[in-house]
Amino acid sequence: MEKKPFVTLGQVQEMVKEYPTPFHLYDEKGIRENARKVNQAFAWNKGFKEYFAVKATPNPYLMQILKEEGVGVDCSSYTELYLSDQVGFHGQDIMFSSNVTPAEDFKLASDLDAIINFDDITHLKFYEKIAPFHETMCCRYNPGGDFAIHNQIMYTPKDAKYGMTKEQMKDAFRYMKEKGVKHFGIHAFLASNTITEEYYPKLAKILFELAVEMKNELGVHMAFVNLSGGVGVPYRPEDKPNDIMAIGEGVRKAYEEILVPEGMDDLAIYTEMGRFMLAPYGCLVTQAIHEKHIWKEYIGVDACAANLMRPAIYGAYHHITVLGKEDAPCDHMYDVTGGLCENCDKFAIDRMLPQIEIGDYLVIHDTGAHGFSMGYNYNGKLRSAEILLREDGSTQMIRRAETKEDYFATLDLSAFEK
Ligand SMILES: *Cc1c(COP(=O)(O)O)cnc(C)c1O
Repeated sequence: MEKKPFVTLGQVQEMVKEYPTPFHLYDEKGIRENARKVNQAFAWNKGFKEYFAVKATPNPYLMQILKEEGVGVDCSSYTELYLSDQVGFHGQDIMFSSNVTPAEDFKLASDLDAIINFDDITHLKFYEKIAPFHETMCCRYNPGGDFAIHNQIMYTPKDAKYGMTKEQMKDAFRYMKEKGVKHFGIHAFLASNTITEEYYPKLAKILFELAVEMKNELGVHMAFVNLSGGVGVPYRPEDKPNDIMAIGEGVRKAYEEILVPEGMDDLAIYTEMGRFMLAPYGCLVTQAIHEKHIWKEYIGVDACAANLMRPAIYGAYHHITVLGKEDAPCDHMYDVTGGLCENCDKFAIDRMLPQIEIGDYLVIHDTGAHGFSMGYNYNGKLRSAEILLREDGSTQMIRRAETKEDYFATLDLSAFEK
């Protein structure tokens, strides 16, 4: 599928008068339409709720938009819980799916009455010293072995640090039942960035069967199954986009097959998508500031891996559009690089693009999730602004760019004053 930016050269030329590049730009319209589609795909399930994985894009303005679309939040740390509370997410609209959890994080999750998802059986006793069990609690499952779809291994749970074995899940549920917990949930995350409509249905089947086993063996009330994240987006033009309606339908079939005959048709489906909710509705806008001709052709841009880490750490593909040259032939091969003193700081390697001139604006696609949020300050690079493109076409700065004062805020430089 052809990848088109949601912004034009003309719009960016207006924006840069107010906000210098680089910046992350988000598309409110796209975010809302997609969130509505997700809710529609699972509308057959009465208790359905998507809990947006805050770590993907922890910006309160974007979280507010999702909130207005009926989405909750999935947090994994103290600061994500704090931010969610500030934005107005309360109680059961917050899922707390953490691992290696510090005591103060559990305490805040409990104080906010979030749904706590235990990553390990040893966390139960750790948690009990800090806070009481709530009426509804959840445990994260690790089935071990390999996770495959059509004999293709997608993930190896046996090597993953997350979750509990089945026996541990049962012990945990038994223990919490004794302590008065009334409703239980199970959660698992078995593959990341899947571009197949079979991932959720296959995971759902595993978790539904486990839910039946738990109910029958332990006599507990299974309140929900949390399918977590992992639904992918088409980063590459040749990737086939996931049809969320087909995914919802696949999960419904497994539900009808496994849960309904057991009388478990009050069980709610939860999801914790990050990437699918936001990645395509964000982009990194950057300007070509240098060109270099040595053994290869380089275009140097004003963004770097500190603004978008995925290409550097995973070799991840992010599509690039040169604004204003959407229809020009891609007859030049470039490495598009940032300025970090690391050779992996390349947004594209051997990429065929239209001829790029200094001053051209480049859109790096699909940075709406796991983009800004993975940023860092290596080489003294400062984090960029985040800008929201509103549905009416106006723009709003939803996070200002860092300044050198932010960078030095944790140092007392006065001790070095001359
Ligand atoms: C990262 C994460 C998610 C979101 O994953 P995506 O691939 O962005 O959908 C959901 N749940 C948990 C527990 C996670 O760690």
